[in-house]
Amino acid sequence: MSQQGYVATPPYSQAQAGMGGYAAGFGNPPPQSHYGAYGSPTQGYSAPPPGVLKPPASSPSGMPPPPVSSQYGTNIQQNGAHPHSFPPPVSSSPSMSPYGQPPPTAFRSMAQAPPPTQQLTNQMSAMNIAGYGQRPVQSPSNSAPAHFQTSPPPPVMGHPPLSPPGQQPSPLGSPPPMATMGSMPAPPMGMSGPPGPVVHQPPHGPQGYPQQPGSPIAGPYGAQMAGPQGQGPQTGAFPGGFAGGPAQMAGPPQKKLDPDSIPSTTQMMRMTRLKRRQVYVTNTRGQVPPLVTSKFTVQDQGNASPRFMRCTTYSFPCTADLAKQCKVPLAAIIKPFAAVPKNETPLYVVNHGETGPIRCNRCKAYMCPYMQFIDGGRRFQCSFCSCVNEVPVHYFQHLDHMGRRMDLYERPELSLGSYEFAATLDYCKNNKPPNPPAYIFMIDVSYNNIKSGLVRLICEELKTLLDRLPKEEGAESSSIKVGFVTYNKILHFYNVKSALAQPQMMVVSDTAEMFVPLLDGFLVNFQESRAVINNLLDQIPDMFADTNESETVFAPVIQAGLEALKAAECSGKLFIFHSSIPTAEAPGKLKNRDDKKLVGTEKEKTLFQPQRGVYEQLTKDCVAQGCCVDLFLFPNQYVDIATMGDVPSHTGGSIYKYSNFQVEVNGQQFLSDLSRDVEKSIGFDAIMRVRTGTGFRATDFFGAVYMNNTTDVEMAAVDCDKAVTVEFKHDDTLSEESGAVMQCALLYTTIGGQRRLRIHNLSLNCSSQLSELYKSCETDALINFFAKSAYRAMLNQPMKTVREILVNQTAHMLACYRKNCASPSAVSQLILPDAMKVFPVYMNSLLKTPALVSSTELSTDDRAFHRFMVNAMGVEETQVLLYPRLIPLHTMDVSSESLPAAVRCSEERLNESGMFLLENGLSMFLWLGQACSPDLIQNLFNVPSFGHLPAEGTSLPVLDNAHSRKLHSIISRISQQRAASMKLLIVKQKDRAEMSIRQLLVEDKGLHGGASYMDFLCFVHREIRQLLT
Ligand SMILES: [Zn+2]
Repeated sequence: MSQQGYVATPPYSQAQAGMGGYAAGFGNPPPQSHYGAYGSPTQGYSAPPPGVLKPPASSPSGMPPPPVSSQYGTNIQQNGAHPHSFPPPVSSSPSMSPYGQPPPTAFRSMAQAPPPTQQLTNQMSAMNIAGYGQRPVQSPSNSAPAHFQTSPPPPVMGHPPLSPPGQQPSPLGSPPPMATMGSMPAPPMGMSGPPGPVVHQPPHGPQGYPQQPGSPIAGPYGAQMAGPQGQGPQTGAFPGGFAGGPAQMAGPPQKKLDPDSIPSTTQMMRMTRLKRRQVYVTNTRGQVPPLVTSKFTVQDQGNASPRFMRCTTYSFPCTADLAKQCKVPLAAIIKPFAAVPKNETPLYVVNHGETGPIRCNRCKAYMCPYMQFIDGGRRFQCSFCSCVNEVPVHYFQHLDHMGRRMDLYERPELSLGSYEFAATLDYCKNNKPPNPPAYIFMIDVSYNNIKSGLVRLICEELKTLLDRLPKEEGAESSSIKVGFVTYNKILHFYNVKSALAQPQMMVVSDTAEMFVPLLDGFLVNFQESRAVINNLLDQIPDMFADTNESETVFAPVIQAGLEALKAAECSGKLFIFHSSIPTAEAPGKLKNRDDKKLVGTEKEKTLFQPQRGVYEQLTKDCVAQGCCVDLFLFPNQYVDIATMGDVPSHTGGSIYKYSNFQVEVNGQQFLSDLSRDVEKSIGFDAIMRVRTGTGFRATDFFGAVYMNNTTDVEMAAVDCDKAVTVEFKHDDTLSEESGAVMQCALLYTTIGGQRRLRIHNLSLNCSSQLSELYKSCETDALINFFAKSAYRAMLNQPMKTVREILVNQTAHMLACYRKNCASPSAVSQLILPDAMKVFPVYMNSLLKTPALVSSTELSTDDRAFHRFMVNAMGVEETQVLLYPRLIPLHTMDVSSESLPAAVRCSEERLNESGMFLLENGLSMFLWLGQACSPDLIQNLFNVPSFGHLPAEGTSLPVLDNAHSRKLHSIISRISQQRAASMKLLIVKQKDRAEMSIRQLLVEDKGLHGGASYMDFLCFVHREIRQLLT
């Protein structure tokens, strides 16, 4: 968004020095490739601002003790403060066990001696790979890395004789041979230390089922691919590389290594699940939050909830040199509108009155818990730039004997990590309060959409959906206005003014110069115009019932919506329901440029580069207006999603795709997506700035955003599912004492038309010891960063280069740990940092994602679509995408409230007497083994046996028995956690459809190329050894 509408000083017009030195994208290129390593050094560092004061000796770590929630709202008028509009704070249940809650002084708890039980745990963890269930944050002193022996070096990649040949997992649930990898035996059953994989297997877990005779390792299919096919050790060509061919289905199983003894994601999750629901108190600087897969309740005491912000590491290295050495990316994944569970406190809105929020004069950071009040409370020193500011008279407050303001706990901005400010007119376009946003529904009524029944489906749904438009807290009805357009190669606008007896249609056939033919009556309040709108929605399907028009336009549709919002002087969202590649003569006309011959070549990247020109300009204009574009696609063939998704993916919009749409098959999924999208919480016309303490700064941003300059992240809209990944680089030395503070400020317009500032603060530790960095890593956040940065790099780099860099960086990060942090051991041991034990499985899975795997079997549109999806994802979404959940159902406890524990994502876990649910946030499968219990099948499907089930079913009847209720409750719980609805596909063992689930079994060799987890781990180990010698 250009600056024209905003006043010159606040809030985002500050230019930052030294930004010019940063190339967009990936920093400095390494010698051989264009796509730079993530940790590569940056140049053009600016000197620290002159005249900065040294931060006071007391670190910002002195977070306040837990505020008593009832203190809010009491006596807030004192000291001339302006009335606050605090929502009633919700106090967390005191009965919950506190999570990692050291006393406020325990900042260096990492260095403290562990309690006796912890010592035992540590010893065991050091002895055995089984320690991977531990997580450093839960036991900060547990720094024991994972060791496992993989000597001697494999003569051929992927076939390392890691254990005696023929050694295989024991059948019937007896403990797997732990000693194959660990140098010490597994801990005995039932010990309190970190258990081996077996200890926490449910009594009838998947391992409790006998393997099929004849294929003891490969599972029921014999489809397991064992290692590489004579590939030489070329750089980057790890086993099962990316030749593009499908996974080999034949070949004898040759696994030498017990798969249970390599680090497991499900094991880690199960460990966290075993704990009671935790309360995570954010009062400690640099505290690593619970895993995204665990249940926790957040108590904000000065740092933003991990739901809003997660970092790749919670201990930044002090110097750029250290950062460069370890190559661990420093990044935060920010989801500014993340949904907050009902039992957590919603954000307070602070009003500082006519003069607006209190800010630092120099860096414009907003008042927050890290500001230090000095001089008896008359001045405060900024924790971001160290500037000393006068406290405005109306904001003055005395300090207590600790130097803290007396009103600390009465003011969210002094005691909480996240809160909102009411913005003044200075923060509004043209100094005018904004109008409430509008939603415009734009329906492609060309032949395909009419014939499929889609148009009728949409019109029927809107009649009830529009009653559920989001509304401001406490408001009686929604302020959002609605408008309607239909189109094929011309556009039809509708006047639905409440005074009309019938809606009126106005046609615009000149799509080259798009304009809106009516102002009054186009955008209306649904409640007032309900009768006319319902009349229109009844008529639309019939009006076009006999259409033969199959050509469509696309860019003029966006243009029309944009012009309507401009005319109404508001922000808003376009819901576009579109079916085909826009070939009609009009701006933004596209042609089929799909070319599978480019896959695997230098030019493969061009398939994903959008057609510029019209769409580039539209993106700019939409962002400037706060016009978000949501695209619902119903393609029967190639539609050039790379280009059609360009505007949505830069305006905070979402893209949905229903290939070969049929109402009966995908109708429900589409309607769920549509209603969730219409109802979800969202902010408009947003601009985000991430400020940091001196010594480092935000240098790169990934997400459904637009960057007009190097620091302002512009989003036409931002909703509860959209996350922005921010990379940081050093520009000076960080101090261990003051740590690394960051503040994300998001200026936006609420759905009710109020201008607000949403502030999220986070403080991290800094250390000159790399071991601290590795100890405080967050694997799920790391992989989110790598996914987004690689998906951007693939637009400019050969896919092979992008994959090689990911592998090299993985090896480099782990080698650096080995070299600098691990205790000396044989080079044949693969030693992984505790917090990154499962990093390789995620990385290998990322390499096999549709976007990155160069396979001609995948459609270009699918790959481009995947790319856009991931680009906007938060940490929860990338986690489950890259490590799908495989849930055994045949052993589910129907009386239990909780979800059954997931098992490892490998075909080996499927057994023919079992039934499994598999989901990755985008797709959901129900897999049925051939020997599945007839009782279970009867209970779930109401048919007597496996043989009676149709192939590739999609419907699961709702039946009146405990198993059916339990399964439906599991599915609905999973669906609620996901941003998009997932169509359930029922897959029978040995049916053709079974192939589709193999892509999600990420520990196995990829369906379209890519190594198994085991082979990847061996390859990475080899690379590490090379780096170390
Ligand atoms: Zn400042």
